[in-house]
Amino acid sequence: MPFHLLAGDSLALVQNLQPTPIPEPYWVGFSERAAQTLGIPTHNGLPVDPAWLDVLAGNQIQVGDQVFSPYATAYSGHQFGVWAGQLGDGRAIYLGDVNGQELQLKGAGKTAYSRMGDGRAVLRSSIREFLCSEAMHALGVPTSRALAVVGSDMPVFRETRETAAVCARVAPSFLRIGHIEHYGQNHMHEELRLTLDHLIKHHYPECANSPTPYLSLLEQIALRTACMVTQWQGLGFCHGVLNTDNTSLLGLTLDYGPFGFLDTFQIDHICNHSDHGGRYAYHRQAEVLHWNLYCLASAMLEALQEELHSSLGLDQEAAINKIKDTLDHYNREYAANWQSLFRQKLGLSITDSKDVALLEELLQGLHQHQLDHTLFFRNLSEGQDLPKSLDIWGQKYQERLSLEKHSKDQRLEQMRQINPKYVLRNYLAQNAIELAQKKDFSEVARLLKILENPYESQAVSEDYAMGPPPELAHLAISCSS
Ligand code: AMP
Ligand code: MG
Repeated sequence: MPFHLLAGDSLALVQNLQPTPIPEPYWVGFSERAAQTLGIPTHNGLPVDPAWLDVLAGNQIQVGDQVFSPYATAYSGHQFGVWAGQLGDGRAIYLGDVNGQELQLKGAGKTAYSRMGDGRAVLRSSIREFLCSEAMHALGVPTSRALAVVGSDMPVFRETRETAAVCARVAPSFLRIGHIEHYGQNHMHEELRLTLDHLIKHHYPECANSPTPYLSLLEQIALRTACMVTQWQGLGFCHGVLNTDNTSLLGLTLDYGPFGFLDTFQIDHICNHSDHGGRYAYHRQAEVLHWNLYCLASAMLEALQEELHSSLGLDQEAAINKIKDTLDHYNREYAANWQSLFRQKLGLSITDSKDVALLEELLQGLHQHQLDHTLFFRNLSEGQDLPKSLDIWGQKYQERLSLEKHSKDQRLEQMRQINPKYVLRNYLAQNAIELAQKKDFSEVARLLKILENPYESQAVSEDYAMGPPPELAHLAISCSS
């Protein structure tokens, strides 16, 4: 049963509604790979059934014999560490399930949860979300996907006048920590348990047989989150807005906003200009997600305590200690994943006691010399010489490599499968956006194609693998979207 039907349609939980149409929609981008996941037949890069354009624009709700029943959900959350109260799908409207995946239209008009917002998304941010979702998926990072961006000439006002677009997003579930916090805060105990049971049944079946299914669920969510954030760190990816309402309960990268890949590596890089304190800086991402998991645990506390009492006879204090131990598992998992991933990035297949020091020294070097994260690891995987500034580290690395058993070619081959050549650099996205704003969508399509095979060298200009030209470095990415 779909999540939204679990507990009726109280506005505290969901709102059934229609998207608000946009005039004269046109395709801006379309992902055939995402269409395949949904079982949508395509021809020449677009759906065979032309009704999809109107459906993904929010202009109609029927395609073939499928009639959608759209809805939006309520959630709450902590934003920048502070309780923000009720938020909810203010501009994202679920169309419904397709092939076991939830299909959601972001920017499809106002909902009961729009607060002061207009329910719309601009072309610029929709293209960024579309390209980065598909790029991250191809990189092997757990993420929501994107099926399409549909545009319209309808004006939308942000800092300047822009135009509207709808990004069709896809995920097995868009449930966020903020949903559970919403039910916890509003004493919606039944909804909270139904949602936890739904998560176990559909997304974490391995927890069902545990004597303490809710605690296992918390643990598995934490482990998936640790796995996700490890991959971000490995790619030099900074999310930018890791509020609890943007934190998936499935460990998926969600809500692409002012994200960035570090083309000048700085360990404390902040990619969101509103994040003055650096709460969501690159080196704090794992820590802040751990904090978010604590918010999840507090929202689940009553259900957890009851379960731990009835199954294991634990009193309140013992239950809290057990929950803390469970969340500590996240830190151990992250530390182990991180070391293992960075070892692989350097082609180190066996473990040596000095590896962590070697890794840390490398990150310090990348930081000190502000090197490009993606290029550094890719160049290393292609057997290129290190930058002069890393000579001393390079000698230690060469010594360390002498302990390895694989041949150099084998090692480099494996490294190229984990160190991508192409990532969605902000300046590349910006080029595609500026052309799209002039109605030339070819660069969106070209970038998508390149990013679909990030680990393979492609017959395209080397520029796509390079850092930004000086005039496009440090692009200010607006948070307004
Ligand atoms: P975000 O910072 O994008 O994660 O958004 C935080 C909250 O604001 C979510 O509840 C969004 O649905 C809502 N929101 C953001 N932009 C708009 C908008 N233009 N119209 C309505 N709600 C919005
Ligand atoms: Mg959000």
